[in-house]
Amino acid sequence: MFGEIIHKQRDFFQSGKTKDISFRIQQLKTLKQAVIDNETAIFNALQADLHKPLVESFNAEIVLVIKEIEYAIKHLKNWTKPKKTQIPWQFIPASAKIYPEPLGVVLIIGAWNYPFQLIIVPLIGAIAAGNCAILKPSEIASHTSHLISEIFDKYFNKSYLSVVEGAVETSQQLLAEKFDHIFFTGSTAVGKIVMEAAAKQLTPVTLELGGKSPCIVDTDIDLKIAARRITWGKFFNAGQTCLAPDYLLVNQKIKDYLLDEIKKCLQEFYGENPAQSPDYARIINQKQFDRLIDYLDNLKNPQINIIIGGETIANELYIAPTIIENISWQDAVMQSEIFGPILPIIEFTEISEAINIINSQPKPLALYLFSQNENLQKQVINETSFGGGCINHTIIHYAVPSLPFGGIGNSGIGSYHGKAGFDTFSHYKSILKNLFF
Ligand code: NAD
Repeated sequence: MFGEIIHKQRDFFQSGKTKDISFRIQQLKTLKQAVIDNETAIFNALQADLHKPLVESFNAEIVLVIKEIEYAIKHLKNWTKPKKTQIPWQFIPASAKIYPEPLGVVLIIGAWNYPFQLIIVPLIGAIAAGNCAILKPSEIASHTSHLISEIFDKYFNKSYLSVVEGAVETSQQLLAEKFDHIFFTGSTAVGKIVMEAAAKQLTPVTLELGGKSPCIVDTDIDLKIAARRITWGKFFNAGQTCLAPDYLLVNQKIKDYLLDEIKKCLQEFYGENPAQSPDYARIINQKQFDRLIDYLDNLKNPQINIIIGGETIANELYIAPTIIENISWQDAVMQSEIFGPILPIIEFTEISEAINIINSQPKPLALYLFSQNENLQKQVINETSFGGGCINHTIIHYAVPSLPFGGIGNSGIGSYHGKAGFDTFSHYKSILKNLFF
């Protein structure tokens, strides 16, 4: 069904146009211009899909994308240069170089929570590396999906970059085709389906998945600042962030103080009633809303105690910023990624307890540690495995182009952003050159 467009993209790729570095830079500039020209339309689409607050849309979907484009433009010439490498002395006078080359036609499938940037940021790597691409935004954020399609129709040749809109069936039809790489952002469950389909064509994959990202809070901290950064990172986009702190592991000595500070931050960020705040997003749809409020259902989870929040407005898909305690790992809320504005809090007395909890779970996408104790920082980094994270902050490592972003184990395969995005969409060809003596 998508054979024709893929065929056209293969022809375009074969023409060699995308190998030209100035072509790639020009396309990145066009992409940047397209984002700038359509800023208001992007805000409106995100508002319609997620009630996304303007400041959040601006920072997490527009500025982030523009910074990534500028970073790629700045470094592209250097990334594309063949790199000399050392050879064993026995091979002299031969020399060795590594040549990056584009893969060809790639498929990028996006998720709904940051529906614009989750398609565009991987695309920046694909363009920089010299590929053609087919983009499949999430149908669940339908306004943004339509807008992405409109923008690309206007600014780009379909034989080079093309948007396919549609739901699961469309995704599956695309996955049945032969691509040179598949870049998928979404759930771990669908990631497995994508990898299985890709295996049939022996197509390499990058899987940007989710998971339960812990946030450890120990004693040696500035409580106010820690509370601010946790509250901000957790309730940004109403918790619908793949790398949001999923649950807190708090030293019992400071738990009550931390909760007091979080309460103050919630008031400061969203006012007395977050339902009336222009700075607080909504849940994407009924299905996700029902899944989330189920976690708070005391009939199903009798021992769970709601310490903060818990209010909901069904017809607005609103769930207040909520903090819960007395949870066990058997509760539904701890059995899967929360992906919403609910934050369970678990106490520990020794850091080893927190580390053991983390290591008993699948490897998370992110980990956050609040502590000024450098030995503790080293211990946590050395003794736990996770995609990436922050010390004394949450989620902002995502916005640093020089930090490769990706998961490990159940939270994903491969990485992107900055040079890592270029590498993901490149093949490195190793050449040994000899002389005739
Ligand atoms: P999802 O897996 O349901 O859907 C993602 C994409 O896959 C959509 O485009 C959808 O159309 C397609 N899809 C859905 N079911 C499919 C199937 N059976 N076969 C083929 N394609 C299918 O994920 P979602 O609900 O859009 O996003 C939420 C998940 O994504 C969370 O787990 C979150 O942690 C994760 N996520 C990860 C990152 C990251 O960067 N690692 C970023 C955002 C979201």
